[in-house]
Amino acid sequence: MIPFNKPYLTGKETDYIEQAVHSGKISGNGIFTQKCQNFFEKKYDIKKALLTTSCTDALEMCALLLDIKDGDEIIMPSYTFVSTANAFILRNAKIIFCDSKIDHPNIDEKKIEKLINHKTKAIVVVHYSGVACEMDSIMDIAKKHNLFVVEDAAQAIDSYYKGNSLGSIGHLATFSFHETKNIISGEGGLLAINDSRFVERAEIIWEKGTNRAAFWRGEVDKYNWIDVGSSFLPSEIVAAFLWAQLENLDKIQAKRKGIWNTYFDALKGNPLYTIPQIPNYATNNAHMFYLVCKSIKQRNDLIFELKEEGITAVSHYISLHESPFFKDKYEGEKLINCDNYSDCIIRLPMYFELNRQIQLNIIDRVLNFYS
Ligand SMILES: *Cc1c(COP(=O)(O)O)cnc(C)c1O
Repeated sequence: MIPFNKPYLTGKETDYIEQAVHSGKISGNGIFTQKCQNFFEKKYDIKKALLTTSCTDALEMCALLLDIKDGDEIIMPSYTFVSTANAFILRNAKIIFCDSKIDHPNIDEKKIEKLINHKTKAIVVVHYSGVACEMDSIMDIAKKHNLFVVEDAAQAIDSYYKGNSLGSIGHLATFSFHETKNIISGEGGLLAINDSRFVERAEIIWEKGTNRAAFWRGEVDKYNWIDVGSSFLPSEIVAAFLWAQLENLDKIQAKRKGIWNTYFDALKGNPLYTIPQIPNYATNNAHMFYLVCKSIKQRNDLIFELKEEGITAVSHYISLHESPFFKDKYEGEKLINCDNYSDCIIRLPMYFELNRQIQLNIIDRVLNFYS
């Protein structure tokens, strides 16, 4: 069976883990953590980066940093992963789901403003498949209404909006290194802080509500409990694994883009389905390759037929407003574009070691289904 995803190892992961283990500092915020955080700050122009144990954790830190309270409203796309919403639900926020664009699963920036009222605190955008949302419009809306913007950049490492790296535009942003993403550490994530007002408090929340990070740097002579917090930082073992991946980012990205372009060139121009178009303002980081089929039946038939041929292709999110957890609480209007992506997206196998012959076979099978 050809898998949908296969985690890629650069070969250096275990060497670096061994170094971390023998260094005498295995808990978080050591040398490998610093290397990873510096990499993000320098390469992606992020004011302060903090490694976390997942993107989910980084999103929970955002909700704490923004002081989200009972009844605060947060606008986000419905077509996203549960963590985007859960992080704010945990702080008793009310989630206001917004529809996707007609031609892309990203949040439709033109539908945001009518969802804003005096209780709205933040807009959370998700760069689906690593393709940028319309950030100029979104930042303008946020500025006009005095709202915060969080970028859920879980899928968006090494991707750009008008030359600015994703994760460097919103007040806060989050990345994921889950084994299904481009750069991995098993489970892992990163919080990017671009608004300097949040830097000091973020580090405290990250370290269980203490000023231990400042203590380690010698800035204070005792460390104390000074705010709320939790255990958000990963051990050096995880950071060591991640460093081996980040060192090879360019190689990994080049390979994935080659695979993505092979799919694109072979599957473009067929009116029976659509494939992702990258807007002029965005780049492609080759996180995933998907087709939007014409109906749920066509999509499910294609998944079934590929499975018969030994190929694992998969659907993606069920719109969150249609989930068993949220369905009864949803009070908004129908989100037709989200529902369409829930029904019609199929994702094809996409991973570093996807062999060319196998990929050409996958493409043949898809074209065969449609002929
Ligand atoms: C993967 C993903 C997450 C969750 O990331 P974890 O690191 O597994 O917590 C959140 N949001 C989006 C859009 C994702 O794709």
